[in-house]
Amino acid sequence: MIVAAVLFAYAALLCTLAPRLLRGAGWAERAPRLGIVLWQVLCASALTAAVLAGLALTVPTVRVGSDLAQLLQACVMALTAQYASPGGAAAGAAGAVLALAVLGRLAWCTGAALVRIRSERREHRTVLDMVGRADPVRGVVVLDHDEPAAYCLPGRHRRTVITTGALDALDDDQLTAVLAHEHAHQAERHDAVLAWAQTLAVAFPRIPLFHDAEAEIDRLVEMRADDVAADRSGRLTTAAALLAVAGGRTPAVALAAGGSTAARRVRRLIEPHRPLSRLRVAAGSLTAALALAVPLLVVGGPAAAATQLNYCPDGTPAPQVTTMH
Ligand SMILES: [Zn+2]
Repeated sequence: MIVAAVLFAYAALLCTLAPRLLRGAGWAERAPRLGIVLWQVLCASALTAAVLAGLALTVPTVRVGSDLAQLLQACVMALTAQYASPGGAAAGAAGAVLALAVLGRLAWCTGAALVRIRSERREHRTVLDMVGRADPVRGVVVLDHDEPAAYCLPGRHRRTVITTGALDALDDDQLTAVLAHEHAHQAERHDAVLAWAQTLAVAFPRIPLFHDAEAEIDRLVEMRADDVAADRSGRLTTAAALLAVAGGRTPAVALAAGGSTAARRVRRLIEPHRPLSRLRVAAGSLTAALALAVPLLVVGGPAAAATQLNYCPDGTPAPQVTTMH
């Protein structure tokens, strides 16, 4: 019961307090990739803790049939003793329902998102193949449209799309920056990162952590792609390119170079560049590793203690008991 309570409390803290501390954090804009990883890790850690809490409540109700090896039975009994719960079968059933509900909801929403994304991409690709024309030199699909816009359609048959309006508005360096931005989205699979964050927000809409993670990751992947473009073309050139395509409308299924966060991103590129120090990046990475490890350590402690009782078949023979007559 203690294990389950600790895991519940940890998951609840992550779901409510973590987003308040992290939302809009200035340091994340200085190291967007670390920010993305930290939000992802916190989401994964909260989910893991919730599922393990349910399973930890369930363990005391496990029963081993008499036909199974005595050694295995003794092992399970030792584990059961470690997870002993005064709630008995009711707590175990509640734990099983929680774990199955979280995993089931997640699987359902992930499956639905995969089907929807695949269908939308296929439809959009078909339209692009009909109305766009390939530019093999630049490696893009050109759309005849006055509105300056650039975006990538991610996936296995990915396309980088640019309108004739954007080609007219951008000089060569700015075009290189825009293409570098789109290639960064594709190379770092930002579509998968965003799809996962959106799926969690849809699956558990009332949980602040998942809601805020979606918004923050959406913002940070754009900043990360801006940084890759700026490394190639310079920050001011990237800012100018962003301004040129900022107003362009793009399909929901695509990752655009402009978008709703463009104003803040342009300001960030114009301001003096202050990347996060190595020490602070290391501290952030350590925090992420700890957040991932905590639920496993909490649930693994009693299991490890059980193996020390020599009931489990871990290769170490149990001590011999001798009697004196
Ligand atoms: Zn973008």
